[in-house]
Amino acid sequence: MAKYDNSFTDELRQRLSLVDVISRRVPLTKKGQNYWGCCPFHNEKTPSFSVSEEKGFYHCFGCGEHGDIISFVMKNENVDFKTAITELAEMAGLKLPEIKQKSKQQIENEQTYIDITEKASKIYEELLYSESGKHALEYIKNRGFSDEMIKKYRIGYAPKNNIISSTFKYVKKDKLLSTGLVRNGDYGLYDFFRDKLMFPIFNPHNQIVAFSGRSLDGSEPKYINTPDTDLFHKRQTIFGFNFARDAIHCQNRSIIVEGQIDAIQMQCHGFPETVAPLGTSLTEDHIAILCKSNRNITFCFDGDNAGQKAAMRACLLVLPFLRDNSEIKFAFVSGGKDPDEILKNSGEEEMRKIINKSTSLIDFLWNITNKNYLINTPGGRSQAEKFLQDCISKIKDKILQNEIINEYNSRKFNQWHKWKKQTYTPDIELPDVDSMTIKILKSIIQKYPELSEKYIDFLTSLHISFDEEVEPTDLDLKNADNFIISLQIQKSLQELNKQKQEILKKLNESLTQENSDKLKEINNKILEITKKQESLIDIQ
Ligand SMILES: [Zn+2]
Repeated sequence: MAKYDNSFTDELRQRLSLVDVISRRVPLTKKGQNYWGCCPFHNEKTPSFSVSEEKGFYHCFGCGEHGDIISFVMKNENVDFKTAITELAEMAGLKLPEIKQKSKQQIENEQTYIDITEKASKIYEELLYSESGKHALEYIKNRGFSDEMIKKYRIGYAPKNNIISSTFKYVKKDKLLSTGLVRNGDYGLYDFFRDKLMFPIFNPHNQIVAFSGRSLDGSEPKYINTPDTDLFHKRQTIFGFNFARDAIHCQNRSIIVEGQIDAIQMQCHGFPETVAPLGTSLTEDHIAILCKSNRNITFCFDGDNAGQKAAMRACLLVLPFLRDNSEIKFAFVSGGKDPDEILKNSGEEEMRKIINKSTSLIDFLWNITNKNYLINTPGGRSQAEKFLQDCISKIKDKILQNEIINEYNSRKFNQWHKWKKQTYTPDIELPDVDSMTIKILKSIIQKYPELSEKYIDFLTSLHISFDEEVEPTDLDLKNADNFIISLQIQKSLQELNKQKQEILKKLNESLTQENSDKLKEINNKILEITKKQESLIDIQ
């Protein structure tokens, strides 16, 4: 059988949710940590087919069928490995690589790579406690790191000299270069990391594949990472994930902070489910990795403008992953502080308050819309509307998408048009609407917020508060719409009659022989209009 590069099938498993793929064919419901449904491989009425997103496996307790995302597609659609891979790659938006077997050479190269990075890390760790690493140790201790934390995260020091290129002289040049730890210079190889505080970056198998080095002399950039290599892809790597994976499962959520020191401090002080992207920007791959365990993510950003922007970016990235059981939240740390400082100065409880106070995705998007657009002008509302529509269109779950549209429609009615409700002074006094009609209207608006948008001017003229919760109406959309239209016509008819009475009254008061002909003429015209109005009601 043709074999794909393991890293490609791994990537497929990483990018795709097993639950997503299976639930396209089998309805699944979540019970406990797993999802359950009726087995597609044997005939049954009570679900004994369980799917574990965490483990990446499905298992049927009825017939014993068992497998992963690839074998599910193969068995369910009765296709071969290659077809299944092709289909899954398409779903994941990945390009199918050339079929290739991992060569002996490749396996050997990977082993050499890991050996070098592992040994390099040991050298860095030792140097942190040596004379040359004194200032680095002082720095990290000042940041509140204990010896225990330094040991656990294997923090080290890369000296100013070429320690790596000289230590690994015996290794073939290209193999050493492939780790990204050294570079080719005019005078031979030289070290990439120099005078840096070193944080190893682990793959999910707890092997060191790269490093992140922090500058110690105040020079920018603050952090440099190993350039992308065969075994390290910055966009697909989340710092601290290897340590946080179990906690993300147990706590049923992940927290994303901006910096790696923040991530370590959070992990060590009550939030073991915390991770950080490498460098500043979050990618779709990062979200995909986290969403594999569960779709509950709390983003933690600075409260400043840059933090708001970063949060907006994260929001757009996470929208396609949204499911009806996802809990996506945004926490903001204010006052120019980061989680690290909060933990150090105010403690775990203060941080927990900030996390607990976080804003839901729906509220976050709503708040940012109201902040960024002039919603008290028609143009501003139009821009805001387009922005919201654009965001919502990214949600893949159609039912959820509709629910969110309804939610925003009702907010638009109650909040964007509130200023209208408050400042509106009717030109003509409308007769009161009876309580039964009010009740029906409320129940219609509850169910079809889109109608509130459509008839906003008329509805605000009634001076009814729609904030109160009532039972949604039984009417379908068409009839609900008709109800409001006929109410509108009735109201203007009533108003016209009222005006007619007033005119007649005035005319009667000043009735003379000369204007009695004029009066007849006016009266006839009013009768004509009334007839037209009544016939309109009949059409309804
Ligand atoms: Zn079965």
